[in-house]
Amino acid sequence: MKSVKTVSFCYKPTAQTREVLETFRMMVNHAIQIALEEKVKGRLNLRNRIYREFRQRYEVHSNYPYSVAEVAWSIIKKHNRWHRKPSAERLIMKLDNESYSLNYSIICLPFRMGEPRIFIPLHYGDWQRSFLMDATLKRGSVTMTESTIIIAFSKETTVVEPLMKVGIDLNEKSVVLSDGARYDLSKVGRLHTEYGVRRRGFYARHPVDQRLKRKFCKDSREKVRVRQFLHLVSKKITEGAKAKRQAIILEELKGIRYVHERGNGESRGRRRRISQWPFGLLQQQIAYKAAWAGVPVEFVDASNTSKECSHCGYLNKGLKMTEREWRCPSCGVTLDRDLNAADNIERRGTIPCLAVVRSGAQGG
Ligand SMILES: [Zn+2]
Repeated sequence: MKSVKTVSFCYKPTAQTREVLETFRMMVNHAIQIALEEKVKGRLNLRNRIYREFRQRYEVHSNYPYSVAEVAWSIIKKHNRWHRKPSAERLIMKLDNESYSLNYSIICLPFRMGEPRIFIPLHYGDWQRSFLMDATLKRGSVTMTESTIIIAFSKETTVVEPLMKVGIDLNEKSVVLSDGARYDLSKVGRLHTEYGVRRRGFYARHPVDQRLKRKFCKDSREKVRVRQFLHLVSKKITEGAKAKRQAIILEELKGIRYVHERGNGESRGRRRRISQWPFGLLQQQIAYKAAWAGVPVEFVDASNTSKECSHCGYLNKGLKMTEREWRCPSCGVTLDRDLNAADNIERRGTIPCLAVVRSGAQGG
């Protein structure tokens, strides 16, 4: 199985890197215009149409027309016909893996025909360094923006046949694993509260300044800090699963916001906290890191995972949000509420495991 990881590096922009980006954007917009005016269909037809003309006109290296056609075509495809004309707005360039070379931490990009290639030193920390040093990884496409260079690394992962499954229950306060491990997530709530207070103070001071408001939203430290914190949690979960040879079973979270809509008896504050909670992000990170580490992942139906008895299967529809303990009215078993849910999630997983016996759990 092939898995891909994108690693982003900072670099020092120069007049030359800016020229590369601006030329690329100009070519993309030109290609879009040609595609629309001449009704060119498809990425390859577009490339064939622009190849010779663009190489002469913009004097760029032969790798460029293909990437330009690809980016232009994806913008056309994504474009909503009710909006104004499609165009490339941001300064962003993409080249395939055959266009560039990487010499440890220096990336080497082609640009103008007959001119020397551009060398850009990448800034890196320990984490990025581990990718640069790993000779077993394959390099994919490179994406360049005004401040970062993003390289896709890929590798063939062999999925190890798991010994057992582990169900993961995500809730507002914690992540609970069916093997008993638990991760406190109250920090996410605290960050939201902390930044929520700041935001309200900010809007009280600058009620109508749209430009400042956009800046404030864009440069959100809150998002960055939540993301960093969740990365640590998802890393620990995946490493644990790899060490114990577990297959990870996650809930499908499509309806989570629907479940927490108005009028379900929950307080407004709780609904707001839930709707801000990045459940999906944590799941994505787990799934992503697991794929990279060769740990199998399965998504299962999430309905009633907290209302069912993991011991006998009894469904307690009347279970209230406030009850933190699962007491089964049918078989009498007493369990932590979240652990019961995690057990149910684990049981719904269908990945074949070498050792599936779990004491007390019903088969299936
Ligand atoms: Zn029961």
